[in-house]
Amino acid sequence: MKVPKNIALVAHDNRKKDLIEWVEWNVHILVGHTLTCTGTTGSLIEKAIQNKLAEDEIPENFSIHKLRSGPLGGDQQLGAMITEGKIDFVIFFWDPMEPHPHDVDVKALLRIAVLYNIPIACNRSTADFMISSPLLNEQYSPIVKDYSSYLQREIGQESR
Ligand code: PGA
Repeated sequence: MKVPKNIALVAHDNRKKDLIEWVEWNVHILVGHTLTCTGTTGSLIEKAIQNKLAEDEIPENFSIHKLRSGPLGGDQQLGAMITEGKIDFVIFFWDPMEPHPHDVDVKALLRIAVLYNIPIACNRSTADFMISSPLLNEQYSPIVKDYSSYLQREIGQESR
């Protein structure tokens, strides 16, 4: 049974062209799922899909959820969605050659994806492996490490 996923797609400016190419290549698969994107990436993906497919090739229930632009908080919104179990996997083409104003947000997103054991592709070949995985169309619940001992840790009282 096909199980639609909520796929997050994000690309830094220097990687947007690569991501759009990848989306065009995989467009028939992607429209079978729900997409969540940071703002600018989402607008570009929406246009690319509309240009690539005829209207009747886009399923009625297909949607792209556009968050804020990355530097304006979109990466943090996406991280929060991961903690709420709303994202199944992430394709994040970040730019390894340029510093960004929101580098701390990028690091936080990568961390939260690892913490919640969410598959995350940071380059095209990993994205190719993920999109062609048989698990894409199956129920898959990531096993999240048990953090209960962390939550129950003893907090020392400050001495006066
Ligand atoms: P953008 O954000 O899609 O709004 O450009 C991406 C990012 O820089 O994280």
